Amino acid sequence: MICVSIGRGRHRHVIAEHKHLVEQGAQLVELRLDYINGQINLKRVLTDRPGPVIITIRRTQDGGKYNGGEDARVMLLRTAIAEGVEYVDLEEDVAAKIPRYGKTKRIVSLHDFRKTPDSLAELHARLAKLDADIVKLATLANHPHDNLRMLRLVRESQQPTVGFCMGDIGTPSRLLAGRYGSPFTYATFHHERTLAPGQLSFQQMREIYRYDDITLDTEVYGVIGDPIAHSLSPLIHNAAFSAAKLNKVYLPFRIPREDLPGFLDDARELGIRGLSVTIPHKEAVMKALGKIDGAVKGTAAANTIVFEGNELAGFNTDYRAAMDSLAGALEINEQTSNTRYLQGKTALVLGAGGAARAIGYGLLRRGAEVVLASRTSQRAEALAKFLGCRAIDWGTRYNVPADVLVNCTPLGMHPNVDETPYEKHHLKPSMLVFDTVYNPESTLLVKDARSRSCTVVTGVEMFIRQAALQYKLFTGSEAPAELMREVLRKAIGPAKA
Ligand code: NAP
Repeated sequence: MICVSIGRGRHRHVIAEHKHLVEQGAQLVELRLDYINGQINLKRVLTDRPGPVIITIRRTQDGGKYNGGEDARVMLLRTAIAEGVEYVDLEEDVAAKIPRYGKTKRIVSLHDFRKTPDSLAELHARLAKLDADIVKLATLANHPHDNLRMLRLVRESQQPTVGFCMGDIGTPSRLLAGRYGSPFTYATFHHERTLAPGQLSFQQMREIYRYDDITLDTEVYGVIGDPIAHSLSPLIHNAAFSAAKLNKVYLPFRIPREDLPGFLDDARELGIRGLSVTIPHKEAVMKALGKIDGAVKGTAAANTIVFEGNELAGFNTDYRAAMDSLAGALEINEQTSNTRYLQGKTALVLGAGGAARAIGYGLLRRGAEVVLASRTSQRAEALAKFLGCRAIDWGTRYNVPADVLVNCTPLGMHPNVDETPYEKHHLKPSMLVFDTVYNPESTLLVKDARSRSCTVVTGVEMFIRQAALQYKLFTGSEAPAELMREVLRKAIGPAKA
């Protein structure tokens, strides 16, 4: 069950949001009365309430907004209980002062906005002793392993326990809480009005992640990277899983660089069966892989992991997706054509990161002369040495007589949509221009290339293809690529010329 927290300054907004949420199917809401500006009028929000509530009046010291007198707060909590509210949220110190009364269930809670303490089990035992119907622990995740520690506690507790980690590292624990036996998880009314770090909205929890369908049998997938909050992969993979009615969920895992090995050790216990891999882990995951495909071998980078028995198998769908996109634009059938169809062509690749590595490798295999240019020349030189091609200074990129131009830098990506890695007047109609940036689809480079009549490949094409290939690796079935494209375009806005 998802409990939606409402935190508004005015009583009438609290009432209106509550009514709206119940109409949308919310079964439980938390009224965060500490958000009310001025005097709290309990009767006003409780009389004629459309559904069950948790009453919470969180003090500033516990991460809330209430800064009035403690006696008045305790009085409000007692009154809420006397009014017969369904749940009341009591911090450890007040839980000891307020006795059980009537049918109101007691949530005894503890929040730690700095860390997930080592002594979770002790803290839990302390709270459970305070005549708790539900123990609630919300702590900040500083490391991905904190999520697993918290979820283990939820699973092993005798007492019903709502336990999750806050912060964007903690988001997966909010989504998996029910899988481990948590009676509910918290969401916010709107994704732009989070009341706690890492919180998702009711709509995201329900429509993207299908929270209420996640059970112990649900297979977990996800994307690992840092940062990860803006990744669109959860949106499109979950839409595809949902359309195929698969008992699978795809989560965003923010994994700091140094936490990668520990996270991969924890993955199976979290129910993880497959992962997409993004910056900064594509090369680092190599160490953990037992089995790799040819593209991973050739690029020394993987963007997909499948958990096969005790082994991790690595794939590079960026490579295949980029080459299929390119071949599509050139109307070449990669299966039947000469594999070196770019022989005699010069390809200028801008950037020297993971995308440049996969695409540079692919272009070389298809016979092109590849030239790399990137902001940091040492990085371009190192990649060129690895791939067996040439690197030039970023400032001399216009001197290369490029037949194929590939942007593998983030230049032009939202919100810096006025940037381009390659000035328009250097573009020639004979060029094929491939921009890997996919948000927006019509980057400035794509618009310029179209206006100069170049052949164009967009990042959306590559993004959908790499995701569709991952889907096939995750499920064994063909991906609903058109649906994935539609969902992506809806999220980033329509393609504009
Ligand atoms: P990455 O590993 O961080 O590499 C980015 C490269 O771009 C680095 O060489 C970086 O240079 C260079 N760069 C960054 N800012 C620059 C600037 N202002 N001027 C010149 N060079 C600059 O990232 P990645 O994984 O390769 O991804 C790069 C881009 O490809 C991203 O925008 C991503 O959206 C896109 N991509 C798309 C797909 C798809 O499916 N469509 C898949 C993967 C990636 P430094 O070494 O100096 O930092």
